[in-house]
Amino acid sequence: MKQRKQDILNGSKSNCRNYSINTPIKPINNILPSVNWHITKKCNFDCKYCFAGFKDVKGMLPKEIALEIPRQLKDLGVEKLNFAGGEPMLYPHLMEVLKEAKSCGLTVSMVSNGSLLDPDNISEISCYLDWIGLSLDSCNEDIQNKLGRGPQNHVSNTVKKAQLIKEHEIGLKINTVVTKLNLNEDMRPLIRSINPERWKVFQVMKREGENHNSAEPLLITQDEFERYKERNDMVLENGSTPKFESNELMKKSYLMLDPLGRFFHSANGPIEYIPTDPTDLASSIKKVPFDHEAFEERGGRYDWERNEFTMGNADEKSSKLMTEESI
Ligand code: SF4
Repeated sequence: MKQRKQDILNGSKSNCRNYSINTPIKPINNILPSVNWHITKKCNFDCKYCFAGFKDVKGMLPKEIALEIPRQLKDLGVEKLNFAGGEPMLYPHLMEVLKEAKSCGLTVSMVSNGSLLDPDNISEISCYLDWIGLSLDSCNEDIQNKLGRGPQNHVSNTVKKAQLIKEHEIGLKINTVVTKLNLNEDMRPLIRSINPERWKVFQVMKREGENHNSAEPLLITQDEFERYKERNDMVLENGSTPKFESNELMKKSYLMLDPLGRFFHSANGPIEYIPTDPTDLASSIKKVPFDHEAFEERGGRYDWERNEFTMGNADEKSSKLMTEESI
């Protein structure tokens, strides 16, 4: 156990310093600096608006190929890799891939429904993750339940998991999807009490072939989204403001990989996959449409290295784990 923790510290912290501080970033192909990798389609929730079910995708990448992806993205000029799903914690080799991503100098984040995070796994995960985004749409357990976000305790569970994340000094982000059911809410008191570093708010989106039936009754208009935005605008404790993403803004402002390591986009509506060899991402990246302006407009670039915290945290995490082992 002691050796394993020491290996984690040696592996993540030292390599992270080498890359993020000493290695200049040289973007290749002018690609977006941030990638969302939907590493698995498996999920233990059943959100009605979910468009990440990847219904036509069979299986997932074997560990050996998955481990090559972070390094390739780094070489292409990517700076930040976000693991999404499905629920990324259901990917069986997640820890190894996170470790690889951190070791090659990427800023690493994960969007999770939070249900599988616990005090045991978060200690290890905190060595590799700079950010965790938790999904929380409503203050009301009934509404969350009707939206399909797990059992009747998603709100209270998210509050607890957010606390756990902050205790481990991982950046905390909250992701909210606005639908017909939560449209009239004022989330600000709950968000203030959770006190995340970032709050992202999305207009529910319909994707043909994915969620077109289940999402249809939940869709809202652009005007309705604007009214939600006016009601929920705020300044978070760290001075940041919520990032509101309409359907239009989302369409071309993400660079995404599916569970099989293929680039995909939905710029024209339904998901389109770019033929991609996951061991040779450089060959297919040029065919992916993305819009730098939309990326900047949605606040895609921010202080994701958390410069004012990272170095102190790394040292503190290290000494914390060493102390735990000593007593
Ligand atoms: S938690 Fe996320 S991946 Fe799972 S069903 Fe809900 S939206 Fe989809």
